[in-house]
This record gives sequence, structure tokens and C-alpha cells, in this order.
Amino acid sequence: MKIICIGRNYAAHAKELNNPVPSRPVVFMKPASALLVNGKPFYYPEFTKDLHFETELVLKIGKNGRHVQPEFALDYIQEIGLGIDFTARDLQSELKAKGHPWELAKGFDGSAVLGNFMKPAELPGFSNLEFYLEKNGERVQHGFSKDMLFSFQDIICFVSQYFKLQMGDLIYTGTPAGVGPVTIGDQLRAFIVTASGSKELLRCDVK
Ligand code: ZN
Repeated sequence: MKIICIGRNYAAHAKELNNPVPSRPVVFMKPASALLVNGKPFYYPEFTKDLHFETELVLKIGKNGRHVQPEFALDYIQEIGLGIDFTARDLQSELKAKGHPWELAKGFDGSAVLGNFMKPAELPGFSNLEFYLEKNGERVQHGFSKDMLFSFQDIICFVSQYFKLQMGDLIYTGTPAGVGPVTIGDQLRAFIVTASGSKELLRCDVK
């Protein structure tokens, strides 16, 4: 199982971090050991003083495939959920300035928080998804899949040219604007909007 992540996939988020809007997807990976599931607490790591949340729609891949063609791409999505791409922003800035890979700032233990999943049929269309994050009860991020620079279809076609998609792989599809710091004691809750109202898919306590 691998965790593929897309960076800068919402123009407003690229702008808030002073990054250019990319002409092709920005791709990085997290190791399987980064996964944090079942509502387990996240322990604030010692190597950062500026840990940020990034709330993202997460795709669970349901079958194996390489060089996936656009007309078949959406068939690879088994389930959709929400995740948090925890990022040590201070460390990432340092690595970016040196032109180094981001893994230390993005792939550490617990950095891929994963909530519950839903079947695509239980949700509005892929380009009509709405989600948000509450930090200590206050809404801090609010995203719409229609604002993604690269759609689920684009992402699956693109990444499968380089990495064979395998059943169980996860794709974190990028964060909307509104990323920000967390501190010890914070509680994060992420919701997706369904036809019958908001549904909490993820909860994470920072310890
Ligand atoms: Zn991210």
C-alpha cells in the first residue's frame, strides 16, 4: 500500500503559501508508517514548531492499473474519505529553500491521518463534493472538489503513468485554502456534506 499525495491542487491554497499554480500535478508520497487511523491521538513531534493541518479528500483505490485512460479512471475509486496531511511547515520551508525533498516534513509517523470512507454512490458527484474542517469547534477550512486544479480523473491518469496503482492505495488530493497551525490540546473534526446533511468522517486529538 502506498500513499500518494497531490500538492497545490487548489489555486487559493497555492497562493496563500506564495507558490505558483502548477501546470501539472505536484506529487509526493508518504510511507505506509505515516498512517494514523481509528481516531487515535496525534502526538506533536519534537522536530517542528509550526505543525499545520491540511484537510483533503482521500481516494481509496479499488483495483490495480497502469497508464489508466480517462474514460476508465473513475472506476478505480472504491471509496472516498477525508484525511489530514499534517505538515511541519517550518521544516518544509527549510527543505524547499534548499531544493531538497519534502519527506521529512510530510512523511513522518502519524502525518497521514485517515478517517472513515463512503461509497461514491452515497455522495454527490465527484465534482460536487463539499467538505470542511473544524478546529476546536470553529470552521477553519472549507473545500469544494470543483475547485481542484486537477480532478480525480486527471490525478488517476497522471500518477498511473509513473506508479502502478494497486488495490488499497490512498490518494490525498490536495488541500483547499485555510491551512493553519495546531497546538497540543487541539481537536480537529472533518465533515463531508451529503444529501442528508454533514457527516463527520474524521476526528483527531493533538496531544
Ligand atoms: Zn497536502
